[in-house]
Amino acid sequence: MSKFFTITKKDLDTHARLGRLVTAHGEVETPCFMPVGTQGTVKAMLPRDLIEMGCQILLGNTYHLYLRPGHESIRRLGGLHRFMGWDGPILTDSGGYQVFSLGKMRKISDKGVRFQSHLDGSSHLLTPETVVEVQEALGSDIAMALDECIPHDATRDYVHASTARTIRWAERCLRARGAQNQLMFGIVQGGLFEDLRRGCVAAMTPMAFEGFAVGGLGVGEGEERLHAIGSFTVGLLPEERPRYLMGVGRPQDIIHAVRAGYDMFDCVIPTRNARNGTLFTFQGKLNIKRAQFVDDPRPLDETCHCYCCRNFSRAYLRHLYMAGEILSSQLNSLHNLYFYHRLMDKCRQAIRDGQAELWRELGKITDGA
Ligand SMILES: [Zn+2]
Repeated sequence: MSKFFTITKKDLDTHARLGRLVTAHGEVETPCFMPVGTQGTVKAMLPRDLIEMGCQILLGNTYHLYLRPGHESIRRLGGLHRFMGWDGPILTDSGGYQVFSLGKMRKISDKGVRFQSHLDGSSHLLTPETVVEVQEALGSDIAMALDECIPHDATRDYVHASTARTIRWAERCLRARGAQNQLMFGIVQGGLFEDLRRGCVAAMTPMAFEGFAVGGLGVGEGEERLHAIGSFTVGLLPEERPRYLMGVGRPQDIIHAVRAGYDMFDCVIPTRNARNGTLFTFQGKLNIKRAQFVDDPRPLDETCHCYCCRNFSRAYLRHLYMAGEILSSQLNSLHNLYFYHRLMDKCRQAIRDGQAELWRELGKITDGA
């Protein structure tokens, strides 16, 4: 058992496990959800609110911070933790995912990815070496290796060649690393092809990564293939290292993945949906824009203990949304992130206490209303 990750309990009926991940900025109980702090902030949330809701770890986006304000600037200001006023663990992505989303504005070669900034059109080259350098300058607790996130409809030939390159990039990332206090995770690709996923895992698990992520899922392949390839791949990964399913974040997908053996999750769904007025409850989603809430004095979710649900009515939340008030985004984000943290609490509780009943309850969560 490695010193940075300990499995404290395994569920008897599923592949779910309870774990403790030790980072330079504190411990994280897994399975855990990481709110996304794209530009050095979880949109509309104070770090104080995040601590209060039990948030253990945040995700920072390397691509955005590299372009603005720049990693050297953040390094000079004492690193990302001090810059954003968050003293807990931070995982940074490699920037690859954002760069690959740029479509025509990027060009990929073995060397790396050349891309044009979405801000000012300036040209940049992201290589395995530079993503390590940038993440070390940011000072995150967990850095991610550079990978290519492949579209779900890519041809087998393309996925094969791209995955081989991702493996070469993973080796280069490890060679480039210098920071003592930073963990680094490799990213398994291979698209929707089981043999390519297997090959990628076989090539990467001997490497000295402290954990592994599974990438290239939740990109439009549909629920059935997401669950099938997600479960297949996690089953190949070494048990004693943390496993992170990147970017997949509908509640029902997280529950499925926890049961399959994943430990870490991130997604923009709770915050993005919040700003669009879509709110999560254990009874399903609720759209606060709807006219039915105009005179509704009840809290958003009567079973929720978040600041929003303790103090405000659905009618007020609808009013704030309709009036375009900033507080609408703030309260809605607070509630949705609180919901996601309760969801992870319940998953951990179900594993800890072997609660079949709780698993059944979690299994009923759907997209709902
Ligand atoms: Zn609430």
